[in-house]
Amino acid sequence: MIIINTSHILPDTPYLLDGTESSDVLELPADADPPLAPAGDITYRLSAVMAGADLVVTGSASVPLATVCARCLDDIRVPIAVKNICLHFEKVRDLEVDLTDDVREELLLAIPSCFYCSPDCKGICPVCGTNLNHASCSCDRDRAEPEPDPAAPSPWDQLDALNFAPEKTARKQAKTTAKTPAKKTSETPAKKKTPATAEKPAKKKTSAPASGKSGGRGKK
Ligand SMILES: [Zn+2]
Ligand SMILES: [Zn+2]
Repeated sequence: MIIINTSHILPDTPYLLDGTESSDVLELPADADPPLAPAGDITYRLSAVMAGADLVVTGSASVPLATVCARCLDDIRVPIAVKNICLHFEKVRDLEVDLTDDVREELLLAIPSCFYCSPDCKGICPVCGTNLNHASCSCDRDRAEPEPDPAAPSPWDQLDALNFAPEKTARKQAKTTAKTPAKKTSETPAKKKTPATAEKPAKKKTSAPASGKSGGRGKK
């Protein structure tokens, strides 16, 4: 408990109150996201003065917290500090004033929504998951989603086959046709006028025939 007995405060003389308090009083939620746990006691340095019958307390407080970096997910310890605490209590002459809840509130309000192990944390590779602060990898991260190799079937083919963009549909058909010229030669001339017919052979491997059909109708 952080308690001031106002009867101890002399007129015109700041009453200094330094100390530590168990961080259990923060009552941090166990299921916080990111996870938050106290990593040490609350430290406070407060100065109290009486203004008539009122008490004015100013000062600072801090507490270290254990959490994780939002970019690289490393466990980190971060200081939460409030430098400009200013509390006002009315008509408390010769009373004990408990500051614990107020200091707790100041600290909780100072907790940011996410933390970083350092301002220039490199994060994790979106391709292979390597923590780039500790190791490097040879992934091409400018193209985190690799383009499908035209020579090999790729899981992205099925997404391409959804054909949200008309231009892409045309390109895809051209590619498919080029891959299997012997089979498709007869169908190629009809491709533009009857896209539904032309698309069907290329879509054997897809699981989204509904999307293909509607695309065909839309063109007509
Ligand atoms: Zn980090
Ligand atoms: Zn990588």
